[in-house]
This record gives sequence, structure tokens and C-alpha cells, in this order.
Amino acid sequence: MRRKLIAANWKMYSSCTRAQDFLEALTLRAGSGGPEVVVCPPYTLLPVATMVAAGSPVAIGAQNCHWAEEGAFTGEVAAPMLAELGVRWVIVGHSERRRLFAESDETAARRAAAAQRAGLAVIFCLGETLEEREQGQTFGVLERQSQALANLDPQLLAVAYEPVWAIGTGRTATPQQAQEAHAFLRRRLGELLGGRAADTVRILYGGSVNPGNAAVLLAEKDVDGALVGGASLDVGSFLDIIRSAPELPAGA
Ligand code: PEP
Repeated sequence: MRRKLIAANWKMYSSCTRAQDFLEALTLRAGSGGPEVVVCPPYTLLPVATMVAAGSPVAIGAQNCHWAEEGAFTGEVAAPMLAELGVRWVIVGHSERRRLFAESDETAARRAAAAQRAGLAVIFCLGETLEEREQGQTFGVLERQSQALANLDPQLLAVAYEPVWAIGTGRTATPQQAQEAHAFLRRRLGELLGGRAADTVRILYGGSVNPGNAAVLLAEKDVDGALVGGASLDVGSFLDIIRSAPELPAGA
């Protein structure tokens, strides 16, 4: 059984005081028995976030990292710097990075490998655009993008299926569309990393998840969690999404 994983992507939102209030409320109310919970604030909020979440079941993640351990890369942040802060996860290959900041399959693969070398777990994002879906290219795109997973450590990996047309649009994939893509990605994990990885690596759905649609998405067999953008900025909504995750059967 895979424990569900619910991750918040705050993008370029929040502030020190809001992050502190949010995490104090979340750590108080998110129990250790439910899904695993990760919050990914902007870089500047990571010190306060790791401090407030220390000793709680909530882990802190970053939204990107560079592929080099250090160097003359103005404006970038290296994975060991994140690890030193107590960050445990990093989002890699988000569609906003791909679309707005020229992230490629190759650079995303390099960032993910660097994160894992620093001991960080990776949430590797992929997904098709609306045009690609309408042209029947969804599985071709997922096949190409998932090639970047080939040399990664499955023990430090989650995959996020995020159809670009569903991110920040209020338009969510149907549970069937999500399940179909997740089942495809699970087969790909088997081809690329072996059967054990296919069984254990969690595949999250991302794209306009909110308290009203989370339960039906999370009920699908291959939907192992959610990567939540907009609805993760409000602690009440985020807690409602966390509570939508089905419980693990006793003894699992
Ligand atoms: C995201 O940023 O990864 C995301 C899924 O955003 P939203 O939930 O706002 O669609």
C-alpha cells in the first residue's frame, strides 16, 4: 500500500508572518496517522517554514533547485543549501518552469539528480498541454517527459501528473482522465526503474485540486496524492484536502 502524499505548492505567494501562522495551524491539526504532508513555500520562507515545522509530521519542500553543487550561477539555489536548511523535498520540472523559464526535459533531469544527490526527495512534474491532448499526443508527451526519471532513485521520488490545461484554470481532469494517465505513468515507472519502483513510487495528481474535488480524485487506484497550488494557500482548504484522502487499511 502506498501512503498518500499531499503537497502544497505556494508558487510566488505568502510572507513570513502568513507562512508562520499557516504552519502553526497546520502542524497543530495535521495528525501523523493520515497522508504524508509537504509544504513548498518560496525560497525566502524556507527558514521560517523549516523552523515552525521541525519535529512535526509536516515536511518542507522547495520549488526548484540548480543542478550544480555550487558555482557562479547568480540567482540560483543549490540542493545542498536546501538540505542544510532542513528542507526534505523539491519540486522539479513544474510546467510554469518549463513554459516561463525554458526548463527542458534535460535540465529537469539534471536538477532532479542533483536534488537526490543532496538527499532530497523529488516531486517530478510532467503533463501535456491542451493542444497536445486535443491532438491525441498525451501519452507520447508523458512517455518523452518521463524518460527523465530513468536514472533516479525511486526511494527519493514522487511523480506529479499535472495536465497543463488544469493548472490554475479551475478546470480539473476527470477522475477517469487522471487514472488513465497515472496507470500509464506507473507502467512507465516499471519500464524505467523496475517493478518495485512501479509499486512504491507515488504518483500525485495536480491541476485545480480543491476541497470539492479532492476525494473523487484521491479515490482512484493509481492516484497516490495531490500537488495543490491555489487551494493550498488557505490552511482550512488545505486541511480539507488532506482529510479527503482515504485512510490506509489497518495493518497496511
Ligand atoms: C500547481 O501549481 O502545481 C497546481 C496544481 O496549481 P493549481 O492547484 O492552482 O492548479
